[in-house]
Amino acid sequence: QAKQYGRGGYTFYNEDLGDQLKQQALLEEELKGAVERMDIEPFFQPIVDIENGHVKGFEVLSRWTSPTLGAVPPDIFITIAEDMGLIDAITWQVMRKALKVAASWDNDLFIAFNMSPHLFNDELLMNIKWQLSESKFDPKRMEIEITENAVIGNMDEARVALDSLKDLGIQVSLDDFGTGFSSLATLSKLPFDKIKIDKSFVTDLDSMPQNAKIVGAILALAKSMEIAVTAEGIETNDDLNFLSAHECLQGQGYLFARPMHAQDVSNFLADANELERGGKKLRVS
Ligand code: C2E
Ligand code: MG
Ligand code: MG
Ligand code: MG
Repeated sequence: QAKQYGRGGYTFYNEDLGDQLKQQALLEEELKGAVERMDIEPFFQPIVDIENGHVKGFEVLSRWTSPTLGAVPPDIFITIAEDMGLIDAITWQVMRKALKVAASWDNDLFIAFNMSPHLFNDELLMNIKWQLSESKFDPKRMEIEITENAVIGNMDEARVALDSLKDLGIQVSLDDFGTGFSSLATLSKLPFDKIKIDKSFVTDLDSMPQNAKIVGAILALAKSMEIAVTAEGIETNDDLNFLSAHECLQGQGYLFARPMHAQDVSNFLADANELERGGKKLRVS
């Protein structure tokens, strides 16, 4: 920044831009290689029944550690993958790995997958059906999370897609609820089973009246529409207590556990009955 006013500020600006482009090109190159080598890994973050502490399932979150760049956050590499046309490959690779892991668990926990808007096409259903039959995974244990970006502009096609997913027994969730421009319109037009309250609202619920009001209103809305709710990003006992008092069904957040490697999931499940979070005992049934 300061450089901008230095010797030939203009030139420096261009150099910075050049650096950025180099960095971007490197990222793209590395990501392409990573997808070819199937280096992107599913991590698993538990989703817990707030009322009784039962672990109900896991959200799958993609992780990529580049040998030269280190860990690259999914918000960054998923966007690049979408632009480069790599999101299909990543999604189906990660799903295949995650289903293989989940099929080995001795329980009936669900797993939830994030679907990029780019995947909302004719092949979506075919791919998911193939994945389910390949892994012999019960569709009733699968959830698909989409943001309103995936459906905006083509509500009719989206309804057909969601209906077919639901016909298979798959649950569909509206992710990052409250952050888009037309969350309510999306909710009213499409048959979602679940809302995920965006983590930006799930913070300081005891001390920030605005957040408390918004979360309270979303919970009341979901209740009247008979839609399930998961609150994302629960980090403190106070936030958990607020959600519990307002009858939020499920919760997810660092307070319970961070997203973890497949190898750590078995330990987590084995130890969960000994864990206490926000004054509640966790349980795996
Ligand atoms: P998301 O689907 O809304 O996932 C929840 C994000 O919140 C995850 O970030 C998770 O690690 C984070 N999180 C969970 N609990 C807490 C908490 O208590 N505090 C805070 N501060 N954060 C918490 P992550 O893993 O970095 O993923 C970011 C986003 O990247 C996801 O948001 C999702 O939109 C996207 N993403 C990740 N994996 C995939 C994927 O395989 N496919 C697609 N299409 N998108 C993905
Ligand atoms: Mg999600
Ligand atoms: Mg979300
Ligand atoms: Mg998000």
